[in-house]
Parts: sequence; C-alpha cells; structure tokens
Amino acid sequence: MKVPFSTMEIMHKEIRTEMLEKFTKVYDKGWYIGGEECTKFEEEYAKYIGTKYCIGVGNGLDALRLALLSLDIRENDEVIVPSNTYIATALAVSYTGAKPVLVDPDINTYNLSETGIEEAITKNTKAIIIVNLYGQSADMDEIIKIAKKHKLYVIEDCAQSHNSLYKGKKTGTFGDIGCFSFYPGKNLGALGDGGAVVTNNKKLADKIRAISNYGSLEKYKHIYKGINSRLDELQAGFLRIKLKNLDKYTKERQRIAEKYLKKINNPKIILPTIGNDRTHVWHIFAIRCKTRNKLQEYLKEHGIGTNIHYPISIAKQKAYKDDNLNDLPIAKKIADEELSLPLYYGMTDKEIDYVIDIINKY
Ligand SMILES: *Cc1c(COP(=O)(O)O)cnc(C)c1O
Repeated sequence: MKVPFSTMEIMHKEIRTEMLEKFTKVYDKGWYIGGEECTKFEEEYAKYIGTKYCIGVGNGLDALRLALLSLDIRENDEVIVPSNTYIATALAVSYTGAKPVLVDPDINTYNLSETGIEEAITKNTKAIIIVNLYGQSADMDEIIKIAKKHKLYVIEDCAQSHNSLYKGKKTGTFGDIGCFSFYPGKNLGALGDGGAVVTNNKKLADKIRAISNYGSLEKYKHIYKGINSRLDELQAGFLRIKLKNLDKYTKERQRIAEKYLKKINNPKIILPTIGNDRTHVWHIFAIRCKTRNKLQEYLKEHGIGTNIHYPISIAKQKAYKDDNLNDLPIAKKIADEELSLPLYYGMTDKEIDYVIDIINKY
C-alpha cells in the first residue's frame, strides 16, 4: 500500500466545479488585482478569525515582514523568534535590518512558553513573534503578560494554525498582529501564493494596506516607501471557496490525529502533546524518535511518505552563519528527532490504519 505524505486530490475533486466556475467568473470579468473577490475574502476571513481588519497580501513571509514594518521595527532592534520555526519567521526579521533572537520552545508542545523569553529580552528588544507551530497555539496568556511587562509588540505567525483555538478564540487574535500564509499545502491553501494580515488596530491595518501597495492608499499618492505584496483576485476567489469548507477540513484532520494518538503505541515513538485550553488543527502531526532517519527509511520502504519539519535549525543554516545565533539544545533535539506523518483531508481509514500498523511494528 502507498500512502503519500500529503495530497490535495480528494479536496480538489470535491470543489473542482466550483473552483473552475470561479476561474471563469474572474477571467471573464477581466479585473485581476484589487477587486471584489479580494475585498470579500478579507471581510469573510476577518469575520472567521474574529478580528476587525484583514489585509490580503502576497504570501506568509510578506505578511510577517509587513507586520514588522508597520511597527517600525528596524536596524539595531531585536525580535524574539522561536528557535525551531520555519526560516521565514527569522527572515522577515532580518529583512527589516533587525536581529532575530532565538528562544527554545517547550519540548512537549514545540511552542514558546514563558520559559526563556525574559532572559532573552534586552534594551533593544521590540517585539516577540510567536509561532503556532504544527497547528496549536503557543502559551498566549503567559507570553502576552511578559510582553506587556516589557512593553513589547506581539506578532503571531499563524501560517500553520488557521482555525486553531486558544481559550475559545482563534489564533491570530491575541497579539497586535496575526500573520497567515495560504501557500497551497497550508490548512487553508490557495492555488499559488497568498497570505493575510489580521489586526484589531485600525492605524496598523491602514498602514499595512498602504505599505503592501507601494505605500499608497490613494492612487499615485505614496506615503511610505512601500512594497508590492497583494492577494490577487483569482487566489482570493479560490480561497473563499475553501474557507467555506475549512471547518470540515479541520474536523477531518482532527479525526485522523485522534486515531493516531489513540492507536500508535510504540515505546520508540514520542507522540505530540496538546497544551491546555487549546485545539490543535494538525497542520503537521509531529512525532519524535531517537532513530528518526532509520524510521523514515523504514516507512519509505513500506510506501509511507513522511517529512521533517525541520531538519536543520535556523541557527545552523548557512544563511545565518555570520549572525552568531544561539544554537539551542531543544531546537537541535527537534531537528534530530522530529518526523511528520501523513495527514490530509480525504485520507481513508484503510490508509490511517496501515500507517498505524507499520509504525507499531517498527
Ligand atoms: C509557510 C510558513 C511561512 C511562510 O509562508 P509563505 O506563504 O510560504 O511565505 C511562515 N511561517 C511559517 C511558520 C510557515 O510554516
């Protein structure tokens, strides 16, 4: 039996007609940037997440970069970033000229907790970017408390946590700004690149909208040296269709994960843990194993696709070799031991049971 790490085949089969109708509608209308689809998506997504404002942007990295730019983060500033996140989180900081300062996550949830943050704060620290890695929220109450005490901004990197809840509220609503990616493989994915920034702060929302559009809110009047990062009409239209189904997609991911959690029982495997008062949307089902590479090879031999998120920590990346970033122990442990199991909408019970069976026999 063959089980891919991920596939959109079933999801895309179900919405094929609707997606093609949307393509035809936008194609025939002849208006491809800054129109009705994007405006409607922004309204619908803000409502879905529970913020006042949403700005569609080009991708998740730009969402983070725009958030930092709107908060005037610049050279000589420091921004705290989890040591085990995807490199985009750190790159967004580097683009502004500021320095990413790495902090190790909690080894059970793989997300930032109160531990280690205060030790990393200096007089130059301006913000904390928390990442709701793999699909569950970081410890927001504790983090917001620290941020308030030290007068720091909080940005939420929600690229992996669409529809994930903390104390009954969606991730992206806790900090000053929430940033989303709609890269095709994310839990809400376009058919190309896309992203969004959400906030309750009107000033920031206006500023982000302007910076994302050449620094302009009014045609040919440029109030910032902005960038070009916009969500196009086709992607916004496709995203509106998928957004209607996101609760259903999320529930299915949760059903698969629950089965894994209940039935994988191999002492060599450490299963993921969900923190208190939150829901996990399982963008990634991350297990740990001391002999990870061997396990990955074994699963491959049995036709099971897996992935590693992420095999090289940010501190160890060549791109950051001159930055003297802290190579922290938990980041290293996760890079050495993490393995991501297949989990996708449309995965059959047969496929799920097969993965469980093969893992239990390892
Ligand atoms: C995917 C991802 C990003 C970047 O999103 P893009 O749309 O690919 O630019 C940022 N942060 C995290 C944690 C991600 O997983």
